[in-house]
Amino acid sequence: MSTIVTRFAPSPTGYLHIGGARTAIFNWLLARHLGGKFLLRIEDTDLVRSNADMTQSILDAMEWLGLSHDGEITYQSKRFDIYNEYIDKLLASGNAYWCSCTPEEVEAMREEARAKGLKPKYSGRCREAGLGPGPGRVVRLKAPVTGATVVDDMVKGSVSVDNAELDDMVLRRTDGSPTYNLAVVVDDATMGVTHIIRGDDHLNNTPRQILIYKALGFPLPKFGHVPMILGPDKKKLSKRHGATAVMEYETEGFLPEAMLNGLVRLGWASGDQEIFSREELVRLFSTENLGSSAAVFDKAKLLWLNAHYIKESPASRLAVLVNAFLERKGYPPQDLEYLAKVVPLLQPRAQTVAEMAEKTECFVTRTDDLVYDMAAVKKFFTDEVRGHLEAVRGILEGLAAFDQASMEQAVHAYIEEKGIKFKLLAQPVRVAITGGTASPGLFETMEVMGRRRVLARIDRALAL
Ligand code: GLU
Repeated sequence: MSTIVTRFAPSPTGYLHIGGARTAIFNWLLARHLGGKFLLRIEDTDLVRSNADMTQSILDAMEWLGLSHDGEITYQSKRFDIYNEYIDKLLASGNAYWCSCTPEEVEAMREEARAKGLKPKYSGRCREAGLGPGPGRVVRLKAPVTGATVVDDMVKGSVSVDNAELDDMVLRRTDGSPTYNLAVVVDDATMGVTHIIRGDDHLNNTPRQILIYKALGFPLPKFGHVPMILGPDKKKLSKRHGATAVMEYETEGFLPEAMLNGLVRLGWASGDQEIFSREELVRLFSTENLGSSAAVFDKAKLLWLNAHYIKESPASRLAVLVNAFLERKGYPPQDLEYLAKVVPLLQPRAQTVAEMAEKTECFVTRTDDLVYDMAAVKKFFTDEVRGHLEAVRGILEGLAAFDQASMEQAVHAYIEEKGIKFKLLAQPVRVAITGGTASPGLFETMEVMGRRRVLARIDRALAL
């Protein structure tokens, strides 16, 4: 079996968004599953709308998702000579011709066709005129006028278009630049691409591209057009539904494996399994399981996946990520070993790394900078409680070992002796050491914070 070659071909006119990332993932998985190659091509022929920063941001997003490409990146903007070489071949073989019709004339032909209730298209006036190059002239494909072009699609099945409906499309513009369809075909063919998975917004282009393949005598790749992605309201996914750029999810604290898992499920399934490791996806992926109906993007499900992967992650890895989030908030770099002790307290309930970082703040902030929830201070720090807090502080200071079990035992001995309920003490102590009323288990939290910090905070709280 010859090796398969897939590709991802983004236009760097915007960030890598959910739909583009899903296309990249499918092509990457197909190549990895079959031991083929996954190529990357930057479609930057639109020199005005493309920019290098966008290209870089797309590369960053792909790296974050772990979608490694093979070989060098191809840039369309550097391949104009190659496109022109192939246009010349088409002219020489009689599969293309020069056309001198002006845009206004072409528009008039379209109008005329429309008026007759026909598909608007170029009339073919210059097809047999035998024109040569000249100012204001374009090169058009001499497309077949009878028969049909069939896309044998891996997702949609067989899609047939009457050739009579297809234009003699422009291949080279008056300024000498190649058109999009010509460039894509020349690239895919010369890069040896065998399988193309892309959004079905490109399905219209495919019959046209097939005509160019045929005119150039290139073998056809296999196409698979995946349906678009919808928001929960079943309308096309857009900004209205929230973040659409992949890296916005990184900023929100999603893990790349959750993103990969969530995106791959938008149009691909393997039974009713929801959670897939990267290795499992590579092993299981097949185009046969690509769905033909539109997939719905569901943020709640993505959060659920993220919570799962957070639970599964080693604390040391999350500590590094939490540290990065804290740095973005202006904190100095933290002791990663300390963070790795905080992380397990937050892992069971966290949905995002951003949320973990937020809950880590009270662990890392300087005691003097700890912000107290003053309503809670007022509510819980009664004179009676202050007395108990002072006593508990003394007990904690005197403990031989500052661990959960010792603290728990000592504090319970104290409340029994005083005949008070644990409840009377638990919230005030929590407020004293964290500033607020919500935290992981009290004794675990104190053990992780360490004696020095805990005592200093009780002191500060008592002085409020
Ligand atoms: N550059 C096109 C896009 O970003 C993709 C073209 C293709 O996959 O053939 O939509």
